[in-house]
Amino acid sequence: MIYFDHNATTPLDERVVEAMLPYLTAFYGNPSSLYRMGRVVRSAIDTAREQVAALVDVQTSQIIFTSGGTEANNLALSQVQKDVLIATSAIEHPSINDFSNQWHNRHISIPVDNNGLVNMAAVSELVQQANKPGLVSVMLANNETGAIQNIEELADLLKSEQVLLHTDAVQAIGKIPVSFPKLSVDLMSLSSHKIYGPKGSGALVINKKLAITPQLIGGGQENGWRAGTENVAAIVGFGKAAELALADLALRSEHCLNLRLQLEEGLKTIANVTIFSEQVDRLPNTTQFSVQGIDGEMLLMQLDRKNIAVSSGSACASSGGKASTVLTAMGVANQTAKGAIRVSLGKDNTAEEVKQFITVLKSLLIKD
Ligand code: PLP
Repeated sequence: MIYFDHNATTPLDERVVEAMLPYLTAFYGNPSSLYRMGRVVRSAIDTAREQVAALVDVQTSQIIFTSGGTEANNLALSQVQKDVLIATSAIEHPSINDFSNQWHNRHISIPVDNNGLVNMAAVSELVQQANKPGLVSVMLANNETGAIQNIEELADLLKSEQVLLHTDAVQAIGKIPVSFPKLSVDLMSLSSHKIYGPKGSGALVINKKLAITPQLIGGGQENGWRAGTENVAAIVGFGKAAELALADLALRSEHCLNLRLQLEEGLKTIANVTIFSEQVDRLPNTTQFSVQGIDGEMLLMQLDRKNIAVSSGSACASSGGKASTVLTAMGVANQTAKGAIRVSLGKDNTAEEVKQFITVLKSLLIKD
């Protein structure tokens, strides 16, 4: 099978499995237990915390382990009271936008331009109002188009405004360099399964000055900020995946970019193809495109029958025929948005697979 859906999830790296195994078998102790096995398990969590902290250039005290990106996003947004205004970009993941709509009483959507970049003038206007938001959330890289936002510029805008800035970096880590202090954000969400780690593991990274109001209250784990007996093997796996992502970042990113360029060169030999967010900085592994007059979900199923896995948009949006909210927010016409196919490449994909993909795609489109 040709797997081209790494923004949905990635396979576990063998080295990650190896690191996790002892904590699924011999070392089953509770990390809060004081005897030796408990201490061994605690120390494995400490190591993972160091590995994840290193990936985004922070201290270990700034990492709160969660059950993934969704929980990290929910936890970040719940740091402002329900009645305080919250502003999120129109292209955020549902764990940001649906959460804001349901949990917060006052939620504003920040518009994006045709390339999917946040309208900075709109943010600037928003924070100059007397009634400004308590928190702004803009993702670092989009899961569908791969478009990368200028978070540093946003942080600069908000610097003197006493507005918390959160970024969802779930799709960015392991693909581009991500430094929490360089981005000058207050909160950042991470997920393990997008970087060859296990599912159900992630982290919220926090500014040292913040004290977190927990959503899960109980045994005081994670500094009292996220209670519940730790999912030790998943945390250890996330740590190992983070270590590998940091060590191989340049290699993976160059490899994916070369494949993406090859892919896009091939796409451009097909008539009426639109590549979304093509004019702006994108993740090296991501291309979202549409062929005029073609239904994206139909094409996805046809590709599936040829053993090729791609996405027709966000995996989480299993849309029931609806156009992607990301593309709609970018002003893409409904028909074009419905034709969208996302290819997200990974470290183990090859030039031969890209070549095969283009050949199969052309054969399917000609048949149509
Ligand atoms: N944020 C973005 C941008 C995502 O793409 C995803 C997953 O698709 C998430 C958050 C949710 O992460 P998780 O699957 O770890 O809950």
